[in-house]
Amino acid sequence: MDVECSLCVLKFGGTSVGSGERIRRVAQIVAQAASKALNEAAPFPVVVVSAMSGITDQLLRIAQFARRGESLEWRRELAALRERHLQAAEKAVHDGKRLAELRAALEETLAGLEREAAGCEDYVDAVAAWGERLSVLLLAAAINDLSLPGVAAAPVREEVIVTGEPQGSAPSEPGAVIGAEPLEEETRARAQLLLQPLLQGRTVPVAPGFIGRTPAGLVTTLGRNGSDYSATVIGAAIDCCEVAIYTDVDGVMSADPRIVANARLLPALTYAEAARLSWFGAKVLHPRTLIPVAQRNIPVRVRNTFRPQMQGTLIGPEGRYHSGATAITVRRRLALVTVESTNMFGAPENAGQVFALAARVGAAPVAICSSSGHHLSFMVEEQAAASVVSLLQHDLGHWRVSCRLGLAACACLGSGFTSDPMSPARAISALARERIPVISQGASEQGIMLIIEDGDSERALRCLHRDLIAPVIPLVRHPAHEKRLEALKAR
Ligand code: ADP
Ligand code: ASP
Ligand code: MG
Repeated sequence: MDVECSLCVLKFGGTSVGSGERIRRVAQIVAQAASKALNEAAPFPVVVVSAMSGITDQLLRIAQFARRGESLEWRRELAALRERHLQAAEKAVHDGKRLAELRAALEETLAGLEREAAGCEDYVDAVAAWGERLSVLLLAAAINDLSLPGVAAAPVREEVIVTGEPQGSAPSEPGAVIGAEPLEEETRARAQLLLQPLLQGRTVPVAPGFIGRTPAGLVTTLGRNGSDYSATVIGAAIDCCEVAIYTDVDGVMSADPRIVANARLLPALTYAEAARLSWFGAKVLHPRTLIPVAQRNIPVRVRNTFRPQMQGTLIGPEGRYHSGATAITVRRRLALVTVESTNMFGAPENAGQVFALAARVGAAPVAICSSSGHHLSFMVEEQAAASVVSLLQHDLGHWRVSCRLGLAACACLGSGFTSDPMSPARAISALARERIPVISQGASEQGIMLIIEDGDSERALRCLHRDLIAPVIPLVRHPAHEKRLEALKAR
């Protein structure tokens, strides 16, 4: 981009734009940022937006029905999806003329979706892409409808990100999106082409997250929940100075606040800490989000759309940010694959061969658990387990391959843990007290990982958080305290 470091990316997730009222609230955040940029020399916003919550799932159901030729069903789903967007439009935009224009643009896009669904065969990413195309229309119109002096927005109706051919990281179930990897230089050129004219006219571009296209023009996605990743890909392509990920929680917390009621906000994290948290299950960030920005030291701030006054979590380079953070995450639906030598004295001499075979079916190990002279155990995603095991059994005839499904990895991560040598012992005893069996474990300089039954994972998360991070103080009054209160009242 022409003006160096004068841009920021604001990304809004599905719940943030989940209804017309919410879209209007998001529009206010964007309009204020744009107004600040115009009046106070703050960075000018480029917006990246997800589909409304639940819409990508609905598009995948539409694709599924269409592939099976169940036309009544997919048309019923499509009618519901259309209704939801038209209702949102009414709440997001108040001006009559602007609303009519928005309705027309939505109808045109919905007609495109209908044609795409009718022709859908095995590749569903192109159908899944339509949710973001609809939400850019809603949000751009809502920003304009606020009529803040000097502030204008425009939807970006083409894919900004250029990707390679679709190629998922794990074998996907039929009907699931595959995903593709962004191409850096091509994306930079396309961002320049699509965004620069708007930016020059001081118009806020509202771009679709999650989606991309190959150089040949095939529509792709960055994989489920990939819009965080698309925000940093676009941020790096325009050399922005900060990426803000607006979501439905205050920032990155010490555990998933939906499971642990007293989870704490982590004000600062290093790139490495945040990447590990998301790898081990913190859904608040897609695991690849930090790759494009960490190379360039672009900070990422995770913050709450519904409480924009909160500072959120700042994620940045090591050194500049000493976090001292402690967090517990859980990554679910995993399988433990074990390769053993059938000859007691033989060794799986080549672990590289095992992982190369796993990679051939697109299954990178989530974690390596243990190894010895004659065994090697590692975790893969449950959905990939069957193909990994059958390939290993086929190609490693002289080794015994076994697999245990239904597992989860609990991870205690952050520099606050790793600097305390007693942490592993405390984690194990926390689980033991709750009678949660530990199937495998690993402690490293990065943190502690405990493999447990998937069914125990929420209980494990709560007890680890309670014993290692924040004790839950019971709301029971002590008899002595009660007596004192009585005495005070009697005076
Ligand atoms: P968005 O639609 O904005 O992308 P997501 O649902 O993908 O939002 O991610 C936000 C959710 O991540 C939160 O609602 C929360 O339940 C979950 N989450 C899991 N682990 C964490 C964590 N450690 N800190 C914050 N949120 C977390
Ligand atoms: N809409 C996409 C999904 O639901 C991408 C995202 O929201 O992150 O997977
Ligand atoms: Mg998300």
